Amino acid sequence: MSEEYITKNQALTMIMAVIEGDESEEVLDALQRASDNITALPCTDVAPVVHGHWSKEMRFTEDFMGNRTYGYKCSVCGKLANRLQFCGNCGAKMDESEE
Ligand SMILES: [Zn+2]
Repeated sequence: MSEEYITKNQALTMIMAVIEGDESEEVLDALQRASDNITALPCTDVAPVVHGHWSKEMRFTEDFMGNRTYGYKCSVCGKLANRLQFCGNCGAKMDESEE
């Protein structure tokens, strides 16, 4: 399941924008409680998903001894790997349609 993330600062900025101009005690109290709750939320490291696709045909690289390594070429990093849901070299999610 895919989730969307915003930062704590973005959440607080959005709340501040909604109540702008209303500085009644009830609103400021609600803002303080919302701020406390948002600040107390656990943090998660989040990285944007990079999407890629595999080459249609298997390719190979050759080392200085002439030993070949076979695999499919990742459209993101250009390295060869087994054709899985994610690139084993760069972590790209391989859900794009092929070239
Ligand atoms: Zn890759």
